[in-house]
Amino acid sequence: MDVVRVNDFDFRPFISHAMIQQRIKEIAAQINHDLAKEKPLFIGILNGSFMFAADLMRELSIKSEITFVKLSSYDGTQSTGEVITRIGLDKPVKGRTVVVVEDIIDTGKTIHEMLKVLKAGKAGRIIIATLLLKPDALQYDIKVDYVGFKVPNDFLVGYGLDYDGLGRNLRDIYVKI
Ligand code: 5GP
Ligand code: MG
Repeated sequence: MDVVRVNDFDFRPFISHAMIQQRIKEIAAQINHDLAKEKPLFIGILNGSFMFAADLMRELSIKSEITFVKLSSYDGTQSTGEVITRIGLDKPVKGRTVVVVEDIIDTGKTIHEMLKVLKAGKAGRIIIATLLLKPDALQYDIKVDYVGFKVPNDFLVGYGLDYDGLGRNLRDIYVKI
């Protein structure tokens, strides 16, 4: 894999597509085991989670549903600290086991806002699955149930993650040089 240019920055290969797929298989196996009796509702947070959500769903064998919400907080390579709901939750969650599916948890603000919505809707069990977690950036006390990879506080693109809208199509995950 080579360095790629997205807009005005260069990025180097960080997590390969094969490693991502391997880790998703492991997480899906755990979820298949842990939630076999639950018929959970998966809630993907758009835009970033669309690839992870799709690949995770393909590996699930339990009965489940999926829906999406669209939240945004990032502007360029920085979190703005403000979460805007662009498309809200379209399904009742009352009493249900829900699994929030995120591409990456950075400060935790987005997940924190999502948890407020789910608690207000009286969701039953609330579970969080994220492909990537930046432990050093986390500012909220959030229990993350399934983590693909812990990553440093660097800016990543690819596999759903964008830089100013571009780079989501990359099969691998890249880090800004
Ligand atoms: P948080 O609310 O946890 O601070 O940020 C979560 C959201 O910010 C993620 O869903 C993702 O969209 C975006 N984000 C956080 N870190 C990165 C990163 O390194 N690269 C990209 N492209 N987006 C990120
Ligand atoms: Mg996101």
